[in-house]
Amino acid sequence: MHKKSDSMLIKKLLSIRDEMLDRCTRDEITTLWSSWFEGKGVHEPYEWFRPRGERRFWAKYVWKDYVPPKYSFITWLALQGCLSTRDRLHFLENLDPACQLCRWEEESADHLFFKRPKTWAVWGKIMLWLGIARRSTTIRSVIKWAGRQIRGSYIVQMAKRIALMASVAIIWRTRNKVIFGGKTWDAVRVIFEIKEATYNILYSHFPHEQVLLHLPDR
Ligand SMILES: [Zn+2]
Repeated sequence: MHKKSDSMLIKKLLSIRDEMLDRCTRDEITTLWSSWFEGKGVHEPYEWFRPRGERRFWAKYVWKDYVPPKYSFITWLALQGCLSTRDRLHFLENLDPACQLCRWEEESADHLFFKRPKTWAVWGKIMLWLGIARRSTTIRSVIKWAGRQIRGSYIVQMAKRIALMASVAIIWRTRNKVIFGGKTWDAVRVIFEIKEATYNILYSHFPHEQVLLHLPDR
């Protein structure tokens, strides 16, 4: 009798589950749910799901029609601190928390994406190419800064947005290939892949000469 509304409810619950799994680990979700059920009313869960403040700002920056969803998605997870770097996997017994790429320190998002000299070298080249003089040390600060920049041509604005997110996604993908696929970290290759991905998208929107005029391959 209530079949239609039941299926609507199930759909809604599934989408809530997916959103939560996107943002957090299972343990964190269990803790959140129990705190909500002990609390009164819907205020807390509502606040959690409502994008506002920084999250609203990130959402506006990250989700763009010309940015491939796989780049937006990884950047989105990184911004929320939900990528499964080893510092967040302490509940797994016998897991070595060290960064598997250099073994100098515990693997955190800040370490993996910025503090490692080999990743720092990638950003250095990418920032130079994009004409960005500022050196950020976290993904949040780089996105916050880039989102406020309104100077430069439309092509350059677009290139920055694509390249910053492609960098996050490609660095993450390369990290996974090193850990799970036995590959080695090749900074030149990573830089090439970021530039290639960015140019391919720009070329699908503008003539090649115009793209290279605004964003020379340096
Ligand atoms: Zn490392």
